Amino acid sequence: MSRRRRIYEGKAKILYEGPEPGTLVQHFKDDATAFNRKKHAQIEGKGVLNNRICEFIFQHLNAIGVPTHFIRRLNMREQLIREVEIVPLEVVVRNVAAGSLAKRLGMEEGTQLPRSIIEFYYKSDELDDPLVSEEHITAFGWATPQEIDDIMALALRVNDFLTGLFLGCNIRLVDFKLEFGRQFEGEMMRIVVADEISPDSCRLWDMESGEKLDKDRFRRDMGGLVEAYQEVARRLGVLSGSEQQSPPRGPVLVQ
Ligand code: UDP
Repeated sequence: MSRRRRIYEGKAKILYEGPEPGTLVQHFKDDATAFNRKKHAQIEGKGVLNNRICEFIFQHLNAIGVPTHFIRRLNMREQLIREVEIVPLEVVVRNVAAGSLAKRLGMEEGTQLPRSIIEFYYKSDELDDPLVSEEHITAFGWATPQEIDDIMALALRVNDFLTGLFLGCNIRLVDFKLEFGRQFEGEMMRIVVADEISPDSCRLWDMESGEKLDKDRFRRDMGGLVEAYQEVARRLGVLSGSEQQSPPRGPVLVQ
């Protein structure tokens, strides 16, 4: 047995060389970081939960024709993905004011926005992922105008899908972050959703109590992160066997 080649190690995930050309293995670690790694902890069980939640969401996105890098889950912590060239942007979709938007514009957290808002941040640890405009993106060649159009159209489709999915689980989708990649097939290139969608990258509030079921529990030292992620997984119906404390309810999709 030879050791797998590690392609990249990030804050919460590792990418290994995949079994076939054009594939990679995405491994979910238990590490939690915030404020550009200034805060760091190991939270046992987080990686397993994110792998399952992300699998569930990406499978459904693929099924409704939103292309993602996801192929299939391999085991508790790993999924097989398509190798893509990552667009160096973090694309945030917001439905409700929270986090950096609430701070920047002096809005109260929880204020419903007049419409969904898409923001772009340039992926750079040294610069703390600064907010950028489409002008910066095209001028500096991070993405073309056509790619920005594709990214925005896909981001809104993901938002519509996730909003309905979580609404069916009595969860309010406040905001979330997406990353996109360029998938090359011969002469063709298409933009696909990459990275992950999980409670690490979304703000999820219980619809009635407003309880936070996402990474803000870690950012804001609230504790109970694994329990919150378990609750999200349980409501989505993705926990099984011994992990399941009560029967899965599963989402009730809004017609
Ligand atoms: N987000 C993320 N990774 C980042 C920054 C933000 O997944 O590096 C997510 C975050 O979980 C939230 C949304 O993007 O769901 C918007 O985050 P915001 O800009 O409010 O930043 P924060 O308050 O987390 O610093």
